[in-house]
Amino acid sequence: MTNEQVIKMLTKIAIQYDEESQESKAIGMAIKSVEKQIPKKPQIAKKENIKEYYCANCNGYINNAYDMRLSNRGNNCKLCGQAIDWSDEVGVIKNERKIY
Ligand SMILES: [Zn+2]
Repeated sequence: MTNEQVIKMLTKIAIQYDEESQESKAIGMAIKSVEKQIPKKPQIAKKENIKEYYCANCNGYINNAYDMRLSNRGNNCKLCGQAIDWSDEVGVIKNERKIY
């Protein structure tokens, strides 16, 4: 079962309960948890010509292109656990690292 399927199923279960019920709140928390497992591309900012990466979920700082090693870039945000999709950045990171 994919994360998307789990979210759909939990949403169907949640509507059986009153919105303010403990059950509904628990299911809502479970949905948020599963959503974090779906990788999101990082938000990017440039500081002194070095790309900085921020979590798309909590806006927390993840890393920058200068410090990053492909092997230890981290697949999850250390602050909120959001899975990070680095697929757009792999080439960029390699190129930026050649500068230094
Ligand atoms: Zn985060």
